Amino acid sequence: MSYRAWFQCINEGCRATYPLNEIIYRCRNCGSLLEVTHDLAALRQRDAKAWMKLFEERYKSNTWPYGSGVWGKKEWILPQIADDNIVSMYEGGTNLFWAERFGKVIGVDDLWVKLCGNTHSGSFKDLGMTVLVSQVKQMISEGAPIKAVACASTGDTSAALAVYCAGAGIPAIVLLPKNKISIAQLVQPIANGALVLSLDTDFDGCMKVVQEITKDDTIYLANSMNSLRIEGQKTVGIEIVQQFDWECPDVIVIPGGNLGNVSALGSGLLMMRDLGLITSLPRIVVAQAERANPLYRSYLKHFDSFEPMQAQKTLASAIQIGNPVSYEKAVRTLRQFNGIVEQATEQELADAAALGDRTGMFTCPHTGVALAVLIKLLKADKIDKSERVVVISTAHGLKFADFKVRYHEGNLEFPSQYANQPIELPPSVAAVKEALAHALQKRNKTDA
Ligand SMILES: *Cc1c(COP(=O)(O)O)cnc(C)c1O
Ligand SMILES: [Zn+2]
Repeated sequence: MSYRAWFQCINEGCRATYPLNEIIYRCRNCGSLLEVTHDLAALRQRDAKAWMKLFEERYKSNTWPYGSGVWGKKEWILPQIADDNIVSMYEGGTNLFWAERFGKVIGVDDLWVKLCGNTHSGSFKDLGMTVLVSQVKQMISEGAPIKAVACASTGDTSAALAVYCAGAGIPAIVLLPKNKISIAQLVQPIANGALVLSLDTDFDGCMKVVQEITKDDTIYLANSMNSLRIEGQKTVGIEIVQQFDWECPDVIVIPGGNLGNVSALGSGLLMMRDLGLITSLPRIVVAQAERANPLYRSYLKHFDSFEPMQAQKTLASAIQIGNPVSYEKAVRTLRQFNGIVEQATEQELADAAALGDRTGMFTCPHTGVALAVLIKLLKADKIDKSERVVVISTAHGLKFADFKVRYHEGNLEFPSQYANQPIELPPSVAAVKEALAHALQKRNKTDA
């Protein structure tokens, strides 16, 4: 069976196509973004049941590279790549768990959290980066002039790029906004041997520079405007449905910054529908930080217009983006999925993250934004308590330990509702017993 995919311009009036091994990020005719398009007629020759069976057989198996959550769906992602060129760290296959206690506290019974951060570099960016770096390896093997791969990043893209390039032996260049990412995120590309450039600007400033330096074909662009990333990331929606035995949830909440991931989520779900694996689609909710909310502002105007903004400093640093590259793709997705956009303040996101942790999660601040938005939409009756809701958790909480420390120390600009402080004591049994008696009594009161 010969499956095929190619780049296609997203502009309805243009739809120009380009091969996947061409070094191109925007349409040469009209400047729009590209998307990877598949030969659906060829894919339809295998029926929906047979695809499900194949994906289930491969899921988390030891048959390299098909045990990867991404490469187990290779025919839907990059059908023409040689297995020898695949750079995989066994990404995807992340846990989707029933957040029973959190759901009880906020008033929704059927709440699930998809932990995309439980992966190689600690964020969902691995899903896209395995695809991009594999395609680069294939292009280099075919004689392309690529010497290095570069990205601008709010921290997680650079970590994923650095680790996959290190695995492949391809040089990585990362442009980071100085003092605007966590220590853990900074040390990741450093440890993986990337060329780390710390620029005195914000993400949008880094993005401008990286687009200039990648005009030269020897440096390949790894930001999500490169739709190869989206192809890998689109497996998140497919995997969620697979984990529910091929049933679609009612609502999926996802934090959004540059807006590549929401487009990817939509793209995977639409492909499932087009190939007959599902018949309904969920509602998609994009959660933004109030301080970096250009999509929310546009949503309030029914997407009639879009104005880039100067993003303000937010604890949700990975989504501190004022001029999202994938705005158009995201709007298209939201229109197809009866979408909602909602925002969360700093206090709302920090308290929601802490409440999540209290009930057994260990959330990053972006997941905090999504949880806060869910709480608001439940209160506003825009999501019903009987619906099956999935929250996409985008990164591992340990990457953002500094955020949690400051929260629990009470060192943020607002009171921390769920702060928990260590009690410092002399090493004496009497002192410990007294502290325990006091603390347990207090806990019983608050539980009641
Ligand atoms: C990249 C990232 C996001 C935002 O994804 P976009 O595709 O830029 O919208 C959200 N959370 C985390 C942790 C991220 O790393
Ligand atoms: Zn075009």
